Amino acid sequence: METDVLIVGGGPAGLSAALILGRCHRKVLVCDDNKPRNRFSHAVHGLLGREGSPPSALLDVARGELAKYPGIKMCQTRVVDIVAAGDHFQFGCEDGLQGTATKVLLATGLVDELPSLPGIEPLYGISVHHCLYCDGFEYFGKPVAAYGKGDKGAALAIMMKHWMSDVVLCSDGSEINPETAKNLANHGIALRSERITSLDGKDGHLQTIRFEKSPPLTRAALFFATGCRQASDLSKRLGCARDEKGGVVTDPLTEETSVPGVYVAGDVSRDVLMVSIAIAEGAKAAVAINKAFLRRDGLCE
Ligand SMILES: Cc1cc2nc3c(=O)[nH]c(=O)nc-3n(C[C@H](O)[C@H](O)[C@H](O)COP(=O)(O)OP(=O)(O)OC[C@H]3O[C@@H](n4cnc5c(N)ncnc54)[C@H](O)[C@@H]3O)c2cc1C
Repeated sequence: METDVLIVGGGPAGLSAALILGRCHRKVLVCDDNKPRNRFSHAVHGLLGREGSPPSALLDVARGELAKYPGIKMCQTRVVDIVAAGDHFQFGCEDGLQGTATKVLLATGLVDELPSLPGIEPLYGISVHHCLYCDGFEYFGKPVAAYGKGDKGAALAIMMKHWMSDVVLCSDGSEINPETAKNLANHGIALRSERITSLDGKDGHLQTIRFEKSPPLTRAALFFATGCRQASDLSKRLGCARDEKGGVVTDPLTEETSVPGVYVAGDVSRDVLMVSIAIAEGAKAAVAINKAFLRRDGLCE
C-alpha cells in the first residue's frame, strides 16, 4: 500500500491529524492497535465542548467524522517496523500489512506505570488517578491519599493541597528525609510510611487503604506519582532524538522530529499530557506535513 502519510496511533492526536490531512486531500493511513492511554477512565475532563464524556465515545465520534473523507483509511493493527528508504519510508504491521509512506506521524502515546498494589486495577481511572488537572476537581472536600516514594510522593502530596484539604501521603515503605517530613507537616499533610497491603473499594470507588501493621485509612481517592513510558519504540528505532524525560524532541513550530519526514504529536512528546493538547498537536503536525507537501510541489515557500 502506498500512502502520503502513515499515522501510527489513532488516539486523539492521530485522529486529529488525520482529519486535517483528509481535508487537505492527502492519502492517509491510520494504523492503531486500540489501546488509548485513558481507556481505564470513565470520563474525559478539561476538554472544552466534550467535558465529562467517556473516552471511547469521544474516539467513536471522531472515527465517524473521519469516515466521510475518502482519502483516510483506518486499520486496526500494530505497526512493528518503519525504515527510511530514500525519500520515503517502508513500514510493516503485525497483521502482515506493508507499504510505503512519504511522511510518518507517530502519535503512539504513553503507558502509565501503575503502582503494584493489590486491589488497584478495578479502581484505576475511577478513584485512582495520576493527573490532578484531569481528576482533582471532583475530590474537593473529600479525604484523599497521595502515593509515591521519596521526594516524588511528597511533591505530589504538597501540590494536591491546592485541590483538596485532607491529604495523607502514603510512601509504601519508602523513608522520607527529615526536611521533607517537616515540609509535609507544615502543609498539614500526615505521612503513612508503612507498606500498603491492599486497596479496598466498591464499584471502582476506593474506600480503604490497608497497611501491614497500622490501622486502615479511609480515603475517597488515591493519586499516584510513579511515571510513564513510551507505548512504542518506533521513534527510538527511527533515530528520533529524545530529551532527558524520554519525550521525543520536536521543532516547536512544525512538530517535526530530528529525523526529516518523521513527526510526532500527543503524549509522545511528553509535553502537557492532556487530550486537548494531543488534539492540538495532531492538528499542528498535520498543517506542517501539508505545508511540506505544498513546498515540494512549488505551491508555497
Ligand atoms: C486514567 C487516565 C485518565 C486520563 N484522563 C484525562 C482527562 O480527564 N483529561 C485529559 O485531557 N487527559 C486525560 N488523560 C490523558 C490522555 O489520556 C492523554 O493525554 C491522551 O490520550 C493522549 O492522546 P494520544 O493520542 O497522544 O495518545 P493515546 O490516546 O494513548 O493514543 C495512542 C494510540 O496509539 C496506539 N499505538 C501505540 N503504538 C502503536 C503502534 N506501534 N502501532 C499502532 N498503534 C499504536 C495505542 O494503542 C493508542 O490507541 C488521562 C490518562 C489516563 C491514563
